[in-house]
Amino acid sequence: MICPNCRREIAEYSNFCSSCGARQAEVAAARPTGPKRLMRSSTDSKIGGVCGGLAEYFNADPGVVRILVTLITIASGFVFGILSYVVAWLILPLSPTPFSSASHTTVSAGPAMPSH
Ligand SMILES: [Zn+2]
Repeated sequence: MICPNCRREIAEYSNFCSSCGARQAEVAAARPTGPKRLMRSSTDSKIGGVCGGLAEYFNADPGVVRILVTLITIASGFVFGILSYVVAWLILPLSPTPFSSASHTTVSAGPAMPSH
């Protein structure tokens, strides 16, 4: 890839230019037509949004995904499922929250919340 600041060839997927130190644009944002990214859902989230993110990725019903995840967790003796969930929670990036549905997932820090 080419640094847009100094026009020099730098390593692929670099966050910063090795020649001038300029911050590079997000790789995902630069390739909007690339493969779908598996992300935790910020809008459809019961625990960590992993099930909602899986549902979005596979274009499936989040409820069905949760049932499947729960069944797999129970069938595997809990440890495998819980570990998988925690690992997914830690690894997967949180998808950007759309403005329209942000209100019910965000922590109540807004001035619009009643104080009593
Ligand atoms: Zn540069």
